[in-house]
Amino acid sequence: MSKNALITGGTSGIGKYIALELAKQGFNIVLNYRNMKDDTLDLKKEIESNNVKCLLIKADVSKFDECKQMVDETIKELESIDVLINNAGITKDTLLMRMKEEDFREVIDINLVGTFNMTKNVVPYMMKKRSGKIINVSSVVGVVGNAGQSNYAASKAGIIGFTKSLAKELSSRNILVNAIAPGFIETKMTDVLSDNVKENILNQIPLKRMGTPQEIANLVEFLVSDKNSYITGQVINIDGGMVM
Ligand code: NAD
Repeated sequence: MSKNALITGGTSGIGKYIALELAKQGFNIVLNYRNMKDDTLDLKKEIESNNVKCLLIKADVSKFDECKQMVDETIKELESIDVLINNAGITKDTLLMRMKEEDFREVIDINLVGTFNMTKNVVPYMMKKRSGKIINVSSVVGVVGNAGQSNYAASKAGIIGFTKSLAKELSSRNILVNAIAPGFIETKMTDVLSDNVKENILNQIPLKRMGTPQEIANLVEFLVSDKNSYITGQVINIDGGMVM
């Protein structure tokens, strides 16, 4: 029987590559998006070319009711959610001295509360099925911190505590919960960095390059596959050796 994977923020960057990789492995894909992008329908077609289904669902993960509706719609169409990838995320970088309260709250609301909103709505279905895999997209910044990203680092560190607690709560139902902590990956999120900042970052990466979204997708594909039956509650760094 085919399995279903729901990916938040799945129409760009890392989420898009995860969606394409899981489709190649035979998963039906639920692509959550906040704003329809020019190439979203092409992405849906590309996913479907793997002979799997693709649902496109608009929802803001920071809104609990929208997450509930998205999960209800998925269950109605596909009957189960076997894999949840909490990938949607934003940055609002600035030093604490300049950070407005709304910059802090918005990042926490989308990155951390959004992860709670989705997980809370999906887990009852996984519990009933007594199986499931959840991947929460954290960041190396959540592990080691970063000047100018106190809001983002707090949200990503929060995701790590959430992941470990849930891995303990849900182990008896055979639901594996892990976090991944990417370093600097070539996406829209890092396109905005100046050449100077990029050069500084490259100097901190032993492999001397940024990662690709495909490299993240390869890790996620392994973690959610049947090959992973014994890894849970872990934070897996994927960062070219930046954090050891
Ligand atoms: P991206 O901007 O391409 O992707 C983020 C996606 O989340 C977008 O599609 C966006 O529309 C969606 N999104 C934002 N707010 C949303 C909301 N409220 N509801 C639903 N969707 C929403 O950037 P990316 O680099 O692919 O980021 C994906 C994840 O990877 C994020 O959680 C990010 O923090 C994390 N990450 C990225 C890097 C990197 O270097 N690019 C490093 C570490 C972690």
